Amino acid sequence: MRSQFIKQSTNIKTGPIPTTNSSSDTCPDSCPLKTGGCYAKAHPYIKSNWDKLDQGTRGSSWGDFLGNIRSLRSGQIWRHNVAGDLPGSNDKIDREKFHQLIDANQDARGFTYTHYPVWMHKHAAHNIRAIRYANKRGFTVNLSANNLDQGIFYKQKFNIPTTALVPLDHDGRTKVLKDSTRLIPCPAENSEHVTCASCKMCADPDRNSIILFKAHGKQKNQVSIIARG
Ligand code: SF4
Repeated sequence: MRSQFIKQSTNIKTGPIPTTNSSSDTCPDSCPLKTGGCYAKAHPYIKSNWDKLDQGTRGSSWGDFLGNIRSLRSGQIWRHNVAGDLPGSNDKIDREKFHQLIDANQDARGFTYTHYPVWMHKHAAHNIRAIRYANKRGFTVNLSANNLDQGIFYKQKFNIPTTALVPLDHDGRTKVLKDSTRLIPCPAENSEHVTCASCKMCADPDRNSIILFKAHGKQKNQVSIIARG
């Protein structure tokens, strides 16, 4: 595994906050986007950078990477893994490395998303324990649901920050479920004036909402099919 720390991102969606990437060997085998629809693989710049990370010509060792995370100031919002997933392999989160990352985050406000399996899988209980621990310690890990039904199930079952893919024809409206969970389309998808740096919703471990991401990128039609469930 190689890791990359970017002190100030030029990504128009995240805004100018620190971001990171992890080599593609961190992606869990069970991620349905792995065989088609992965945004990072389809985006020319992100893919080219990711390839260099995989080849070892960019990024750093895990130890140096943790040093960069430790140097972030208290309260700093940062996005972990524009490309890549949590440390781990074969669908199982590497708890030792993950705890090192959570410790390095200290009082900064790191946030990320994961496709590691949390239900109906031999490593589900292990993964959900690790993710729950991170969220309690101030490092926000969103469960990345592949469709809205799965997202609602995850939120109700685990009460962990959750995001969900929605198809291309989603109406883009905010809705409130009977249990008061709000379904909120990512505001950056509807306004060029909103970035993660200003929005910060995905970095809130206590929010009572599911953030919706509309299928996007070059393979949006394929993603839209996955998002229909
Ligand atoms: S909901 Fe906010 S924090 Fe999350 S991805 Fe969209 S803009 Fe970024």
